[in-house]
Amino acid sequence: MGDLYRDAACRDHDVELFYSEEREDVLAALRICGTCPVRDACREIAMAEREFFGVWGGIPGHYRRRLFRREDRRRRREQRAA
Ligand code: SF4
Repeated sequence: MGDLYRDAACRDHDVELFYSEEREDVLAALRICGTCPVRDACREIAMAEREFFGVWGGIPGHYRRRLFRREDRRRRREQRAA
């Protein structure tokens, strides 16, 4: 596994691209993530830190938010059942 900061494919790109909600920008960011050697580590951080916004690890913010909501619902169901 590479070094997240040294090897990040987004390192030399405008960070705004990764936080834009414009479809074309999101797609461009996803293409960059697709070439990134540290994508898995980046994705794990975004999930662990509950990053709600931006493309991280090849996953757009809106998709991660959906995953977080699903996880929260599952956790609440488990708490009710306990
Ligand atoms: S996966 Fe995407 S956002 Fe994460 S470091 Fe690589 S290029 Fe940047």
